[in-house]
Amino acid sequence: MTDEKYDILKRYFGYDTFREGQEQVIDELLSGRDVLGVMPTGAGKSLCYQIPALIFPGITLVISPLISLMKDQVGALAEAGVPAACVNSSMPPAEMADALYAAEAGACRLLYIAPERLTAPAFLDFARRTPIAMLTVDEAHCISQWGQDFRPSYLKIEEFLAALPARPLVSAFTATATAQVRDDIVRALGMREPYIKTTGFDRPNLYFSVERPSSKPNALLRLLAERAGKSGIVYCATRKAVEDVCDMLVSKRLPATRYHAGLSAEERQLNQDDFLYDRRPIMVATNAFGMGIDKSNVSFVIHYNMPKNMESYYQEAGRAGRDGEPADCILLYSGQDVHTAEFLIERSREAEDDALAPAVRQHLLERDRERLRRMTFYATTTECLRRTILRYFGEEAPLSCGHCGNCDTTFEQVDATVEAQKILSCVYRLSERGLHFGRVIIAAVLTGSKSEKIDQFRLDTLSTYGIMADATAARVRQLTDALIERGHLRTDPARYNALFLTPSGNALMRGRDTFVLRLPREKAPAARAAESSAAMDQDLFGRLRALRTALAQKAHVPPYVIFSNATLSDMAARQPITEFELLAVRGVGEAKARRYGGAFLEEIKRYLQEKA
Ligand code: ADP
Ligand code: ZN
Repeated sequence: MTDEKYDILKRYFGYDTFREGQEQVIDELLSGRDVLGVMPTGAGKSLCYQIPALIFPGITLVISPLISLMKDQVGALAEAGVPAACVNSSMPPAEMADALYAAEAGACRLLYIAPERLTAPAFLDFARRTPIAMLTVDEAHCISQWGQDFRPSYLKIEEFLAALPARPLVSAFTATATAQVRDDIVRALGMREPYIKTTGFDRPNLYFSVERPSSKPNALLRLLAERAGKSGIVYCATRKAVEDVCDMLVSKRLPATRYHAGLSAEERQLNQDDFLYDRRPIMVATNAFGMGIDKSNVSFVIHYNMPKNMESYYQEAGRAGRDGEPADCILLYSGQDVHTAEFLIERSREAEDDALAPAVRQHLLERDRERLRRMTFYATTTECLRRTILRYFGEEAPLSCGHCGNCDTTFEQVDATVEAQKILSCVYRLSERGLHFGRVIIAAVLTGSKSEKIDQFRLDTLSTYGIMADATAARVRQLTDALIERGHLRTDPARYNALFLTPSGNALMRGRDTFVLRLPREKAPAARAAESSAAMDQDLFGRLRALRTALAQKAHVPPYVIFSNATLSDMAARQPITEFELLAVRGVGEAKARRYGGAFLEEIKRYLQEKA
């Protein structure tokens, strides 16, 4: 007897094997048990409910948070030959009625719906009449007030379930791993003895690194130049930063676009499409961008600012490399990021929690600050970055992964006690005059530079003026950041981050302590990224990509919906010339083989003839 789930996996999705966790989740659902799947972004959660949905006799409802992206998911399913539809509030009532009518008549197996539509009378009527085999909740952490991304509309799910004549099977999926969020989901959805599958959070194809550049714009331009022609996301902390960074990139003629909550809905949609369709493969965005985006060929995620917590960081960074190809997750860190994050935390708690009791608000605020501390630790550690991430999410990991920025860097111990004392005395001498400045001016004084501020406050008469003249200002700032991190200096956000000496800084200044740093010696060569898909023929890959672009334009779908980059590289390596061989390529299912296979086989044959 052939196993139906394997048939479907191959026929519709073109894969031969399941990834970790998928098969168990599917088996449990098929046996009629509720399932909660906790899997990292890119692990392949969708197949876990899509395959059972194709086997169950009734319809499967999928709750998904973002209307704009439901359409993409439904489009991708349609390409794979899976009948699916969506219902959302942007649809005219007549169109919605048509979709529901078609669903009732059995014309679709998966119906995607926004949570706020669930309890609309027309939909409730439909749901009471139609046999619903399963209710699936995507991004299920949105139901938890403890999660980093609570959405009140998710509470409607409970109400909806209670209004049904019979309770369907319930499955829920999230990438957020904390026990509290998990418990909230199980409770809110009334799951009965659910099977809870938590897969490993490691994403071996992602290369993590942290840089601490003296100029972020220059660092970003260099990183993008090294990745020319590839698609990626640049995350910034604020709307203003998105505007500035995007303007800068566009002025350098880079194909960038932008996304943040301050733009009109039309512009957001337009820019998002430009990115999805690879017309503008670089997206500069706030964290408003990305949930539900499953563009599989994102090959880098650069954080221009440090996010507020590791949950957000790993979720955003995890949007890279969903196709399993090597991808980079780079954090550009500066001490200023900590202040920006603190400010954003403070402000969001003020805005959101008006209704909360002061004690509760205080508790939430403290938890946010603790999360920020853990994030800052990641940004400044010299330990293996992958290990730091995995341990944060409660997983054990080897001391060194051998595939992250820190594992590839040799650190050396540097005794910077003397330099530290010079910086501390500069702060001290200024305070004697009742003056307090931030790190930029301090560095200017120490390196003996000339500027308006220096003249205005006669800072060149200080005994510490120019005592670090042979160091660069960047080096002085780096050391100052290290002094702040170790608590020898503190900054006052209310006074433009002016620096103050702490008791431990005072002790260090007076020679009662030493200041030893681990600093990077040299970066390993950037050769690592090249090793992917060993035997792949670059030339052919380029031609297959061009063909994909042309087909995508004709079909009005994003290129990756036709085939992912991973599929194209496998195709370039195998060079199939028959449909049978084509079906052996990773990611080629029957529907796509029928629709697009001919064109790709033709291109490969032409290529082989030209080469012969
Ligand atoms: P998630 O929702 O967990 O973030 P997706 O369901 O979007 O992840 O899947 C991520 C990518 O992995 C998609 O491109 C999908 O086609 C691919 N994928 C899923 N399952 C498999 C599998 N068994 N083998 C190969 N690729 C898979
Ligand atoms: Zn490592």
